[in-house]
Amino acid sequence: VEWTPDAGWHAARIEPYGPLSMDPAAAVLHYAQEIFEGMKAYRHPDGSVWSFRPEENARRMVSSSHRLALPELPVEDFVACVDALVEVDQRWVPSAEGGEKALYIRPFMFASETFLGVRPAQHVTFMVILSPAGAYFKGGIKPVTLWLSEEYTRAGRGGMGAAKTGGNYASSLVAQQEAIGQGCDQVVFLDAQEGRYVEELGGMNLYFVHADGRIVTPETGTILEGITRDSVIELAGKAGYQVEERRFSIEEWKHGVTSGEITEIFACGTAAVITPVGELKWDGGSTPAPAGGDGLWERLRAQLVDIQFGRADDTHGWMHRIV
Ligand code: PMP
Repeated sequence: VEWTPDAGWHAARIEPYGPLSMDPAAAVLHYAQEIFEGMKAYRHPDGSVWSFRPEENARRMVSSSHRLALPELPVEDFVACVDALVEVDQRWVPSAEGGEKALYIRPFMFASETFLGVRPAQHVTFMVILSPAGAYFKGGIKPVTLWLSEEYTRAGRGGMGAAKTGGNYASSLVAQQEAIGQGCDQVVFLDAQEGRYVEELGGMNLYFVHADGRIVTPETGTILEGITRDSVIELAGKAGYQVEERRFSIEEWKHGVTSGEITEIFACGTAAVITPVGELKWDGGSTPAPAGGDGLWERLRAQLVDIQFGRADDTHGWMHRIV
């Protein structure tokens, strides 16, 4: 779908997958004026195909578009585009038997106008591509080990942290590389102002479960507001847990695990749904995986996955039927 100030959104079409022809001066290639989303389509036992809270992805794209000076794509148009493409390619939505295979959906929007000055583009393109996604955990779920990035931050106040834009991921690559080099799976980012408050992982939001039943998750503002994060707040609340969204310092993390006040830490996102967090390492030290939890992460995960794959009643109205 194309956008210009005069015509608005127009020229919607579905084409066979293939390379794009782009002018070397297309603004996105120089100034990274682009945003994207990540979501999945799931096949239910009766063969029908559903997406999970697609309006939330559409709304997040609207707010990302405001931050990146891109035009707003109406929520219903976003959902209609995704639905139309998944319907055409529905044979690629795997059967979920014996696993968590789904169809990954990647909507994205970029500045396609050709010019070299720095300003918001007046020609913008919105596209959706699809890719089969295997189960995130092959051979059983194992806790992710984390590397605390003390040199790099992901987003500062007034920056783009809350937007899903490529620039945030570009800035996280060296930190993620450092994490892998240190033998860890994922990087933990702290806030850019004080370098003290826990933000999120490279691609997941964090939760800290306390022995007294409180659950803390870092507040929004500079983090990506995960749709899984929001769903977990709702499910945990229903299960009788009190979820606090607030600033959470790295000292609180280290002390909480050592003292036994924190009994579980988990991370969540579309790809992994929910994964337990294990050891946290930093330059010169480490904190072990918390002990003493009763597997809240596992219960929440099972609830969410059962809703997504149509094995449990969708009492929240989260599922959206496509086919
Ligand atoms: N934070 C970041 C930086 C991410 O890339 C993602 C994945 N989109 C998330 C959090 C989790 O968001 P969601 O639950 O919507 O997948």
